[in-house]
Amino acid sequence: MKKRTFEILFSLLFGLALLAALWQTASRNRTPVTESSGFHPVMGTLAQVTVVAPDQRIAQICIKTAFETMAQINQSMNDRDPKSELSELSRTAFGKEAPVSPDLFAVLCASQEYSRLSGGAFDITVGPEVALWRQMEKTGIRPTPEQLEDARAKVGYEKMILNLQSQTVQLAKEGMKLDLGGIAKGFAVDLAIEAIRQKGALGGMVDIGGNIRCFGRPPAPAKDWIIGLQNPQAETVLKRIKLNDFSIATSGDYRRYAESEGKKYSHILNPATGDSANELISVTILAPTAMEADALSTAVSVMGKQRGLALIDSLDEAEALLITADRPDELIQTSRAADFLID
Ligand code: ADP
Ligand code: MG
Repeated sequence: MKKRTFEILFSLLFGLALLAALWQTASRNRTPVTESSGFHPVMGTLAQVTVVAPDQRIAQICIKTAFETMAQINQSMNDRDPKSELSELSRTAFGKEAPVSPDLFAVLCASQEYSRLSGGAFDITVGPEVALWRQMEKTGIRPTPEQLEDARAKVGYEKMILNLQSQTVQLAKEGMKLDLGGIAKGFAVDLAIEAIRQKGALGGMVDIGGNIRCFGRPPAPAKDWIIGLQNPQAETVLKRIKLNDFSIATSGDYRRYAESEGKKYSHILNPATGDSANELISVTILAPTAMEADALSTAVSVMGKQRGLALIDSLDEAEALLITADRPDELIQTSRAADFLID
């Protein structure tokens, strides 16, 4: 009797183990699913998440987590929201060391690196000048030389003092205002990609208003993730770009500009003068992280063709595709940009 029970138990266990092994092989061989979120408003623009996952349930969890991650970053880094951590920092850090969250501190440190790298063309202390630009966007009236001079005195990345040991920030001039509009979307894309990877995605793409990063497996049957570079003068695709475990960002004056006396003014400003950047109408940067691509696309917009190309050429892992206002039909490229182009 005992022996019989043992035999039954043994065959039951054996059966269970066999089932488990079979189930594992089956799920490994199952073709992955692709889910796309469609476009939803995020950080003042539209965002889309695409996920390749072992099954639909995982894909949906990934998409939900990605949007939650983006919302969190927006809550902390949106300069238009008076309740954000960033706005509070601008209000309280003059003349005293203010503590900030690890994510915000990381973006502030990276921002200062990009300021140094670009000789001040990228500068998140540009807030007071951006405020004047937004005024012009509403009224159509250009800021006066006095207003510009006053704003300029409150701009300068070296006036934002970061204490690495205590993770605190001090602003050296009263009335300074930080603006992460040129880098926070890229940072949010990077964190969203990390989140979907952790939740079990096999591949994915996150796009916040043209700040895009792809990783892993593309949707079948494609071999690469493929992104369309828009023609700034028409709603057509200018070039198709393949991206594998890489990022892309496009800055341009064709979507966001203020108008005064029939002239268009880009929302990207030269921090040294407060004037709109106007030499380049489209700047696309390819880089390992979305944050780097985002910040560099803003920097190169300010630096212009010659200095901008020199900066990107000096970086090992970044490439640029530029269109100037003078010759809108010509696509200017750095040396290895062609490796990413399909046609
Ligand atoms: P988009 O937001 O259209 O993707 P960018 O990434 O180039 O474009 O960011 C532009 C935003 O960055 C502006 O709206 C402003 O908030 C901020 N900004 C403007 N000029 C600069 C600058 N020189 N350096 C850093 N940020 C800037
Ligand atoms: Mg940018």
